[in-house]
Amino acid sequence: MTEPIPVNEPLLDGNEKKYLIECIDTGWISSEGPFVKEFEEKFAARVGRKYGVAVSNGSVALDTAVYALGLGKGDEVIMPTFTIISCAAAIVRAGAKPVLVDSDPVTWNMDVNQIELKITPRTKAIMVVHIYGLPVDMEPILSLAEKYGLKIIEDAAEMHGQTYKGKPCGSFGDISTFSFYPNKHITTGEGGMVVTDDEELAEKCRSFRNLCFQPKKRFVHDELGFNFRFTNLQAALGLAQLERLDEFVERKRSMGRRYTELLAGLDWVELPLPKTDYAENIYWVYGIILKDHVPFGADEAMRRLAEHKIGTRPFFWPMHEQPVFHKMGLFKGERYPVAERMARRGFYIPSGLALTEEQMERVVTDLKGIIA
Ligand SMILES: *Cc1c(COP(=O)(O)O)cnc(C)c1O
Repeated sequence: MTEPIPVNEPLLDGNEKKYLIECIDTGWISSEGPFVKEFEEKFAARVGRKYGVAVSNGSVALDTAVYALGLGKGDEVIMPTFTIISCAAAIVRAGAKPVLVDSDPVTWNMDVNQIELKITPRTKAIMVVHIYGLPVDMEPILSLAEKYGLKIIEDAAEMHGQTYKGKPCGSFGDISTFSFYPNKHITTGEGGMVVTDDEELAEKCRSFRNLCFQPKKRFVHDELGFNFRFTNLQAALGLAQLERLDEFVERKRSMGRRYTELLAGLDWVELPLPKTDYAENIYWVYGIILKDHVPFGADEAMRRLAEHKIGTRPFFWPMHEQPVFHKMGLFKGERYPVAERMARRGFYIPSGLALTEEQMERVVTDLKGIIA
């Protein structure tokens, strides 16, 4: 019997159990518990920000950021088409309009050169999303933001511990967001955080995650918020994971290097870029793209790997090809060929922190077998 290789398995063998037991022993399990603040402070400091506001997940972290910046009806926000739905959903739910750019075929990140062409008098912000392990080239975006007076939301969900030109991802622009889903570099089960240097933005985020209760008249509301609170139990996991962030990043990097070695020299596959002049890949996931002469796409490759009990995930499906947005009259007839190709020919192979060397070797052997 071949053992299944899951697409992701987290490592929880540090102080996670100890801190969780502390929650139970002290009775602190809700969002009022002391670990929440400690995790917010330590995580924010780690990514070079003054304030951290922990929320229920990385998707609502984006909703919270969009709310804090006051984006809404009539506003346009430029973002990559190749990303998770959460990014566009946050913009659309706030009543603003996402405006898309294609991906760069080499870094897989948003093509920075297409941004300026999309700026109109209604553009209010750029939502930057770092994809799969390499940061977006931030400098040109920061200059555009300066030149046109635009806000920047940085979705750093896949970038814990990553840097751009030596500066932490999550420290760029007005406000940044993280996710702590179990496939991220550090996890709290479900969870997310908004980080910023702006006290007023941080206060808006805190209010939004807690139903916009007012400090003076608690049950009288000026605005509508949500219950996006983060629990002491989640923070217990987060603190234990954060202690090991450097180790985890190093582990992911060495896994990425190993996969790259094992897959080197094959003429049918495009591999993630190991580094650019501004960053070294941290391989949030190890994605691969089947070259055009392979007679089938990602779906068929993933199906065949599943027969070998190897877990995979497809790449993101572009925002301009989402039926839900077409129904809203968005992106009709728009084409972004690089992202379309990545979505059809790209997928990622097992890349969780608990993956072993033997498992990686089997993944690559079986992958070669199913393509041949
Ligand atoms: C994972 C992820 C999210 C969403 O985070 P959840 O915690 O799963 O809601 C948002 N943006 C990016 C880029 C992600 O990778």
